[in-house]
Formats: sequence, C-alpha cells, structure tokens
Amino acid sequence: MKFNKHLESIKTYEAGKPIELVVREFGIEPKDIVKLASNENPYGVSPKVQEAVKDIVANMALYPDDSMIKLKSGLAKRFLVQEENIIIGSGSDQVIEFIIHAKANEQTKILTNSVTFAMYDIYAKHVGAKVIKTASREHDLEEFYELYTQEKPSIIFLCTPNNPTGDAIDAQSLIEFVEKIDNDTLVVVDGAYMEYAKVKDKTKALEPKGLVKQFDNVIYLGTFSKAYGLGGMRVGYGIAQKNIIEELYKLRPPFNITTLSLEAASVALEDEEFVQESIKKNFEEMVRYEEFAKEYNLETISSYTNFITLLFSKHNSSEIADALLKKGMIVRDLAGYNLNAIRITVGTPKQNSRFFELIKPLLS
Ligand SMILES: *Cc1c(COP(=O)(O)O)cnc(C)c1O
Repeated sequence: MKFNKHLESIKTYEAGKPIELVVREFGIEPKDIVKLASNENPYGVSPKVQEAVKDIVANMALYPDDSMIKLKSGLAKRFLVQEENIIIGSGSDQVIEFIIHAKANEQTKILTNSVTFAMYDIYAKHVGAKVIKTASREHDLEEFYELYTQEKPSIIFLCTPNNPTGDAIDAQSLIEFVEKIDNDTLVVVDGAYMEYAKVKDKTKALEPKGLVKQFDNVIYLGTFSKAYGLGGMRVGYGIAQKNIIEELYKLRPPFNITTLSLEAASVALEDEEFVQESIKKNFEEMVRYEEFAKEYNLETISSYTNFITLLFSKHNSSEIADALLKKGMIVRDLAGYNLNAIRITVGTPKQNSRFFELIKPLLS
C-alpha cells in the first residue's frame, strides 16, 4: 500500500522507555525501577491538583470547555498577556505541529540547532520542509544569523534552555537576534524549561510579554509537562500576537484538551510555591551530578534545566544506558543525536543516589 511519500523519511519518535516496558522485558518490579529519562518533575504534582481533579473524575460525560477559559485566563494573568494571545495544545508538541503545518511546506526551510528537540525535525518532515542545522552543539546566534541570511528559512527554532544539552541562550542576545530577522520568518522560542533557567540565572530569562509586544514574528512556547509535574496530562501553550494565534487555531482539532487536563493545569498554575520548591531541590541535587562528573572525569554541559548531560570519552553511551536499563534505571542515550552521552533527569535525592550506585561500577 502506498502512503504519503513524506512519511518515508520519518523515523518514529522514540520516547523515554516507559516503566511498563522495563517491567515486561527484564522482569523487574515496578517499585525497583527509576525513570530519569523524560525530564518529568520527580516530586510529582501539587497536592492541590490531585484534590481538584477528583471532582472532574466524577463527571466526565460532557465534552470539555472548548474556549478553555479558566486555563487561558490563568495563563493571561501569569504572563500579563491577553487571552487572544494564547493557544493551548495537547502538550506544546501539538503547538509545534500547528506552527509547522501553518508556515512550512515543500518549498520552505526550517532552521534549528544541530542538537535539539527531535520533534521539530519530525513535524518538518510531515510537510516536506527542508531542515537546516547549525554546526555547533550549543546555540550560537551568529551561526544562526549566517544561515538565516543564506537560506531564508520560514521558521527558526530557538530552544532555550535546550533539550537535550541543557544550555541556554542569553536573553538580551536573543532579542537583538530577532530584531535582525525579517518579519516573514517566524521565530519560535521554545521555553519548555524556562521556569528552571529563570531561577538559575536571570540573564537567561525570557518573558513572553516582552517578546509578543515587541515582535510580530515570535511565538513563545511553554509546557506543563516539566516543572509543573503534569507530563501525563499533556498540556502546553503558545503565546504570540493575535494574528499568529488565529492562523494556528485553524489547525486545532476541537476539544484537543481533556476536561481533566484543563483543570489540572489551571490549578497547577495557582500553586507556584510547589513549583518553586521543586526547582530549588532540583538545583541542589544537580550539584551532586556535577561533583560526580568531576570525580569521574566526565564532561558535562552547564545545565539550566532539570536534566544533565554526561559525555563519555572512554565508554560507549549506548552500552552504559543498556547496562543501567537492565538494573531498572532508565536514562536517555544520546547516541541518536550523534553525541556519545547520556541525559539524566535530576531525580529525588534517593533516585539520584541509586543512579550513582549503579553507574559507578560501569565506569571503573
Ligand atoms: C518536553 C518538551 C516539549 C514539549 O513537551 P509537551 O509534553 O509536549 O508539552 C517541548 N519542547 C522541549 C524542548 C521539550 O523538552
């Protein structure tokens, strides 16, 4: 059977291995499995969210509120923008899909960092757009600008802080960069880990309000899957000037967010204390990884997120990741990104201790 020819070049996205698969493949008890592979919040979600969703569970016959007014007004208040500036997606993944389908096609190009979030590539392939990549491992805006002038892409993705490397772009430099970009090129600022960067270093902090006010060609993306602890609920958002949001809305399927997810995200947004507390613990625990890397002579990239990348010179990252997996420790092998490295989500103190305990024998 013939399918859309664009699909031929797509390799199915491989998400972090779910706990359920490790249970089945290696016969390890779920309680003995630690998943530090998808950058979820290891402290879970605010207890207020768990309380609030109970009422929803009792009443699920009706379709969700498709205006998403509660969540949109919460986001508008948080970011000091108007509701008309916001689109909500089933994860910010879905907003990335809308953006690429709205703006790119077989004749257009998309510019991204060499190592970055894999979904940009996958959605680009959906529409047959050509992806141009910089050479540097970390974002280098001069290189981006050079490729922009040569290639005239219709979309530029700036992922800051970047997944899977953890580096972040200086906020002022990013603004100066966008000032030089023609307004028919859409600049996507993917801030999936911005809550973490903001705490670690103010010079990396980007506010959607300023971006949207100054630029008619920028969209800022955020998600509830990381710092807010709602990976299982699938809620993300895009913030941009109204005319961009209106175009993206044409691609949105109705009821793309469930009632449960809308309520969970709305309530999570109100409990900022929970989020800030998890971020604080994240950076306290990250120090242990930095010290570990130093002790074992492993290169790391300074991380503004809730994960850390360990680069190997004497070992093979896939072998290390496999050996850890067999012991119930799920981390992300970055061999597929052409890095001999693994990415580890910073877990709870106990989870991190377990990681060190399991990896040490593999390195000696
Ligand atoms: C996790 C992540 C997203 C989106 O996550 P969703 O769960 O789809 O909201 C987007 N960009 C980056 C860089 C991410 O790491």
